[in-house]
Amino acid sequence: MATHAGGLTADHHPFGADGGSVAVRTSRLVRGFGDRDVLKDLDLTLARGEFTALLGRSGSGKSTLLRAIARLDHGVAGSGELSVPERVSLSFQDSRLLPWMRVLDNVVLGVRGPGSRARGATALAEVGLAGRERSWPHELSGGEQQRAALARALVRDPELLLADEPFGALDALTRIKMHDLLRELYERHRPAVLLVTHDVDEAVELADRVLVLEDGRIAVDLAVDLPTPRSRRDACFQEYRDLL
Ligand code: ADP
Ligand code: MG
Repeated sequence: MATHAGGLTADHHPFGADGGSVAVRTSRLVRGFGDRDVLKDLDLTLARGEFTALLGRSGSGKSTLLRAIARLDHGVAGSGELSVPERVSLSFQDSRLLPWMRVLDNVVLGVRGPGSRARGATALAEVGLAGRERSWPHELSGGEQQRAALARALVRDPELLLADEPFGALDALTRIKMHDLLRELYERHRPAVLLVTHDVDEAVELADRVLVLEDGRIAVDLAVDLPTPRSRRDACFQEYRDLL
């Protein structure tokens, strides 16, 4: 295991053979379109409760991997093994709120059981949208729509949260606020998180582990173990750039 200064560790393996600590495991995962493989024998293991960021060039297959893990890729050619937990939530760059449903109805859509609306309202309060339950999605700003999308993800009490460039469409200041919110929600609920981003700063600031997808495989796997977002970013930045 190669160790670097500044809180980065290469060849990171978060756990041993204990399957109970594993949230996601892929083994020789292959996915492709036509005769072109996008993911090539991709092996990946994510620990329960671990916050991981996935970087990679545009077209490297980040979304393909996320869809595979979410089992949202029926009809896509492929092979390999995949295990994921039962409760998986997904969010995207476009918040994908249904425009004809009020915010609370969007958040609790498909959530069953007594108290689901109360839980939805609690989730909205957690993301700073108390009082907006009856708003329509178009009445929310882009950042607020992403907050609502986070509430929709949270109310399902996910063991795994998959997020595909969720903040990519937001302005810089709103993005920073969303970083703080996501990290805070993560600390409180501790799902495993796999955050796809092409923003190096975002990855290093938020995640405890940073992966780079390259040529269909995980080419870089780094642990980030500094205490605060700012210290992570400042200390890791230079080295991280070098590694890429
Ligand atoms: P990323 O999210 O890293 O930008 P994607 O996973 O979206 O990359 O895409 C990986 C590759 O697979 C790209 O070359 C893309 O053109 C191709 N691809 C993705 N979805 C499809 C599809 N439905 N049909 C054909 N090719 C696809
Ligand atoms: Mg993508």
